[in-house]
Amino acid sequence: MGYAISLWAPPALPIAGSSESFPVRRIFCVGRNYAEHQKEMGGDGREQPFFFLKSAHSLVPGGGIVHYPAKTSNYHYETEMVVAIAKGGHRIDARKANDHVFGYAVGLDMTRRDLQQWGKDHGRPWDFGKNFDEAAPCGALATANRIGHPAKGALWLRVNGKQRQRADLAEMIWSVPEQIAYLSEFYTLEPGDLIYSGTPAGVGPVKPGDELHAGIDAVGELKATIAPAL
Ligand code: MN
Repeated sequence: MGYAISLWAPPALPIAGSSESFPVRRIFCVGRNYAEHQKEMGGDGREQPFFFLKSAHSLVPGGGIVHYPAKTSNYHYETEMVVAIAKGGHRIDARKANDHVFGYAVGLDMTRRDLQQWGKDHGRPWDFGKNFDEAAPCGALATANRIGHPAKGALWLRVNGKQRQRADLAEMIWSVPEQIAYLSEFYTLEPGDLIYSGTPAGVGPVKPGDELHAGIDAVGELKATIAPAL
């Protein structure tokens, strides 16, 4: 039986050094996974991380042009390491979690901070603040076969050449294997799932014309230019 409307291609990420791409199923994101970012968001640095989701269709594979989104006047970047799951599972042991990982990339968890704050203030969902068109720029995947499983190394972001974020992956409150173990208690993880592993301190607003350049040692880099709203 055919489909009533034309089928779309699955969202997919480029893979560094490969002509193949990585099809994306779901995007999980961890909130407040670096103590200094918890503090800048109003926490005491000791809260437990938590998760939210973005649609795979909010990906901007490889970065490039990212349009300023609708209905916000406080549009923020959050630089994060992205983890790509190749092998699914339920109740995955943290000690074996790395076996489920295909690779890693540099991602931006773009956020309509004013809409997110409205949701927090009113006890409403975060979706409009976090899950919108072009909300998830993500660079090429570096395969674990090539780079291993980075647990330390610098993560940084420059906006128009000025450093805005800089931290070390070792400062994560929950490590990537711990995130995979935790998530897989609540969801059956599937091949193609991504995890945005949280941002360090230094988040802030961007506007049309701004140039974002992010990187993580051993993983790669990501560039995005903010274009006027559509
Ligand atoms: Mn984030």
